[in-house]
Amino acid sequence: APWTATVLTLFPEMFPGPLGHSLGGKALADGLWALGTVDIRAYARDRHRTVDDTPYGGGAGMVMRPDVVSDAIAAHHAPDSGRRLLYLSPRGRRLGQPLVRELAAGPGVTLVCGRYEGLDQRAIDAWSERGGLEEVSIGDVVLSGGEPAALVLLDAVVRLLPGVTGKTESLDNDSFEDGLLEYPHYTRPRDWDGRPVPDVLISGHHARVAQWRREQAEAITRARRPDLWAAYAESEG
Ligand code: SAM
Repeated sequence: APWTATVLTLFPEMFPGPLGHSLGGKALADGLWALGTVDIRAYARDRHRTVDDTPYGGGAGMVMRPDVVSDAIAAHHAPDSGRRLLYLSPRGRRLGQPLVRELAAGPGVTLVCGRYEGLDQRAIDAWSERGGLEEVSIGDVVLSGGEPAALVLLDAVVRLLPGVTGKTESLDNDSFEDGLLEYPHYTRPRDWDGRPVPDVLISGHHARVAQWRREQAEAITRARRPDLWAAYAESEG
């Protein structure tokens, strides 16, 4: 079976959305990966198909019911499948390229998208214990729902799957892959708006080009991301 994502959401029509286009969309059509959506509302228990309710303790907003969400997970996630079970949440582990690589190396993921104020904590606790649920955040921002976060995560994983990104787009030099932000790119025209392309890139000296690119990557990382720079400097000794 190809790498498979199952997305539990109140808005299945948001998928594949942007993932139906370009590299990921072609790969989806070619069967290099598979995407399933599950409408959480299908697991509602009453005739009004209620999925949320007011918070105990009071306050604004609505909370997704644990029984409904848990039934949806139980119906579509087999804990012994080897697939990771992830809840997109601003309180989660920050998504980064190491986690993306781990996910791409596995058989797939089950993603749970929250809405409103998020899931009742008991559903999170139960599936953490029972199914290894992990909370993942795409960054220190608050989205109105987990769906855009799921799309971000899937885009990052899918482009790493074998056969998805062709030779014309290299993965090796991408930002973060070597602990650095990437060096700057240039293409034609050679002179644009009074701005020439750096001479070294036209020199034809591969070693000098490689050295220049590394220096640029180091300089931009040092200036913009002291956190990455510190880790890189340490690993380089
Ligand atoms: N009350 C929650 C809090 O402050 O942590 C925010 C809930 S948010 C309005 C609704 C849903 O969007 C969340 O349950 C989660 O699934 C998703 N979401 C919001 N921000 C996110 C982020 N940075 N990363 C991943 N998912 C996010």
